[in-house]
Amino acid sequence: MTGPSTADALVRYDIPRPRVARITLARPDVRNAQDTRLLYALNDAFDVAARDNDVSVIVLAADGPHFSSGHDLFELDPLAAIQEHRTVGTWCGFDCDGAEAQMAREKEIYLGFSERWRNIPKPTIAAVQGKAISGGLMLVWPCDLIVAADDAQFIDNTVAMGICGAEFFHHPWELGVRRAKEMLFTSDAVTAADAYRLGMVNQVVPGDELETRTLELAERIAQKPAFALKVTKEAVNAAQDAQGRVPAMQTSFALHQLCHSHNQQVHGQPIDPGFALPANSRQAGTAW
Ligand code: ZN
Repeated sequence: MTGPSTADALVRYDIPRPRVARITLARPDVRNAQDTRLLYALNDAFDVAARDNDVSVIVLAADGPHFSSGHDLFELDPLAAIQEHRTVGTWCGFDCDGAEAQMAREKEIYLGFSERWRNIPKPTIAAVQGKAISGGLMLVWPCDLIVAADDAQFIDNTVAMGICGAEFFHHPWELGVRRAKEMLFTSDAVTAADAYRLGMVNQVVPGDELETRTLELAERIAQKPAFALKVTKEAVNAAQDAQGRVPAMQTSFALHQLCHSHNQQVHGQPIDPGFALPANSRQAGTAW
């Protein structure tokens, strides 16, 4: 079994079934909050799975009661942290003044990573339990299939922070425009049952069956010819892109950056300070 170097165990990598790689978020103490190091570790793990010809399907899972609390608002110096890594996009200027550095960072590790993972030429399956909040959605939605535990909840609370939705603005594509607006305007959770009814998730299973049911699905898919899987994914993604997904995403990302700049000018910080972090927020988590 081979895997990326994850000595600090922010993610784990294993091959639980033939031709199935599993990447597991392993920061349960902070509900898998995503700091810069975790996102690069996750990206490295996806690359290992993508390049391994003995892997046909990739599962993304998470330790603990919640899939992910979103981006880690407690990371001490995120703009410095990104410069410790070899970036995978072409954007730069992470040490520039004004809006430039914030935009560069979010283009690289938020929108850039989520798009990159969405386009991995192998089927990906997210196994989701508990809450996936804002940045958490940006790990779930790039996956091709989603298996949800019956306690799963999908939440975007960025509007409450003065921001127009998470950086990977897939809400209308996942939920339809009307439910997307409701999710964003209210910050209310979309339950697993609602997500299934809306076609956002493929299966809802009892929580204690999440692992086995996800791996069974992955193993069944992995028995199909790998190249056919690869180009089928490409064909479906192309159909979605032909509906205008890419330019819509560029517009929403630009508006997201406008919100950060507005908050910076008005409040002196990139999110509205009126947003109250939940009690015990280190565990509850939020996202920009
Ligand atoms: Zn942002």
